[in-house]
Amino acid sequence: MPIQQESMFTTRDIQATDAAHHLHPFTNTGALNAKGARVISKGEGVWLWDTEGNKILDGMAGLWCVNMGYGRQELVDAAAQQMQQLPYYNTFFQTTHAPATALAQEIASVTPGDLNRIFFAGSGSEAVDTMIRLVRHYWSVVGKPYRNIIISRENGYHGSTIGGASLGGMKGMHAQGGPMVPNIEHIRQPYWYGEAGDMNEEAFGKACAQALEDRILQVGPDNVAAFVGEPVQGAGGVIVPPANYWREIQAICRKYGILLVADEVICGFGRTGSWFGSQTLGIEPDLITMAKGLSSGYLPIAAVAMSDRVADALIAHDEDFNHGFTYSGHPTAAAVALENIRLMKAENIVDYVGTDIGPYFQQQLRATLAEHPLVGHIEGVGLMAGMALVQDKASRTPFPEDANAGLVCRDHCFENGLIMRAVGDRMVLAPPLVISRSEVDELCEKARHCFDLTLASLK
Ligand code: PLP
Repeated sequence: MPIQQESMFTTRDIQATDAAHHLHPFTNTGALNAKGARVISKGEGVWLWDTEGNKILDGMAGLWCVNMGYGRQELVDAAAQQMQQLPYYNTFFQTTHAPATALAQEIASVTPGDLNRIFFAGSGSEAVDTMIRLVRHYWSVVGKPYRNIIISRENGYHGSTIGGASLGGMKGMHAQGGPMVPNIEHIRQPYWYGEAGDMNEEAFGKACAQALEDRILQVGPDNVAAFVGEPVQGAGGVIVPPANYWREIQAICRKYGILLVADEVICGFGRTGSWFGSQTLGIEPDLITMAKGLSSGYLPIAAVAMSDRVADALIAHDEDFNHGFTYSGHPTAAAVALENIRLMKAENIVDYVGTDIGPYFQQQLRATLAEHPLVGHIEGVGLMAGMALVQDKASRTPFPEDANAGLVCRDHCFENGLIMRAVGDRMVLAPPLVISRSEVDELCEKARHCFDLTLASLK
C-alpha cells in the first residue's frame, strides 16, 4: 500500500492528529496543541515549505544536520540501492558488511590524528553514551578502573539519553528524569560575552581552563577518566571559546594523563570550515563523537572515533566489549553517509565553508546586524553563529526573563519565512553548508526585518 502523503489531509487534520497522539521532544506539548504545530511538507536546497504553502529559509539546517541541503537525489539513490541489496544486517556476531567497513575507513581518513577506529551508533546521544562506557572501560582494561570520573561543562549539550543528559550541563535536563549518572562533574563554560565580567578574552580563557585543573585536583587526578567538550558549544547558544582556551585545556589533560574527548555532533563534517571542529579550534582529541552531518540527517547514524592508543588497549584486552545497538553500522544509513561524504568531497564543501561562504556569512551577519539596537554581540565560526539579544547594548543588560525576547524573535522569524533558533535570548543560526552568497544575503535581510519586529514587540 502506498504511504499516505500529507497532501491527502488538511493542515488541520494533521494538527489535530498531532495534538491527539504526539508527545513532542523539547516542547511544552500542551501549549503547542493550543495553537497547532506548523506542518513542514517539503525541502529543496536551503528551503522548506509548509502545508500552507509558505516558503521558509532553514537557517538551522533542520537540527544542525542537513548540511548538504534538502532534496539530494544522490542520497535518495544510495539508500534505495542499499535497501534493495541488503536493507539491514548487524555487525554483532562475527559478521560485517561493505557499507559499514567502507564508512569506517572513510571516517578514519577525515578524522584528525590517529583516530583510526570507529564504533557506530544510531544517534548523537548513543554515540555519547558509547563514549562514556568506552572511556571508563578503557581505563579499566589498562588496570585503572578507579579512573571513572568524567568532567564536562555547564551549559554543554551532549544528548538526551540518561548518559548524554548527565554529561551535558543543562540544568533543565538534570531537573527531569533523574537521578543522573554518577561520577560526572561540571565546570564553568567559556562564555566570554556573558560571564567574563571585566576579564579580557585571554584572561577569561585561562581562568576557564584553570577551572578544569582545579576540579581535577579536587576530585583527585587518579580518578579522572576524561574531559569532554564541544569545540564550539552549539545547543548552548553557539559559544566560541577564547582563542587560548582549548590549548590550555589540552595541556591540562596531557599533564594529568586524562583523555580528551571532542563532542563533534554539531561541529563535525564541515560546520566550522574544517572536517572537524577540532581542526579549526586546534584540539587533538583522543576520541570524537559525531552524528548529524555524517549523513546530512538523511538517515540516523552516528559514530565514535578513537585513537590507536585507546583502540589497541581495548582490542588487546581479550574479551568482548559488551556494548552495541541493533542499528550500529546500519547498512542503509552507512551507504547514505558514504555517499554524503563522497558528495562533500566532490563539491569541495569543507573548503567552501572554510574559505568562502563561512567567512562571507560571518561578515554579512555583522555588517547587517551588529549595529542593531537589539544585538549585544555576535560570535561564530564557519556556518554557525550566535547573537545575544539585549535590552541595552552598552551595559550588556539582558531583557527580563518574562519578556521571552528570544521566543518573541523566533516567532517573528517563523512568521516571516526564516527559521532561527532561540536559546534563551541568544538567536542561533547554522544553515545548510550549501547555502549560496545570495541566500546568505537574504537570510541576513530577513533576520534584520525580524529583529526590527522583535524590537517593536518588546517595547
Ligand atoms: N552532542 C551534541 C554536541 C549535540 O549537539 C547533540 C544534539 O544536538 C547530541 C550530542 C545528541 O545528538 P542526538 O540528538 O542525535 O541524540
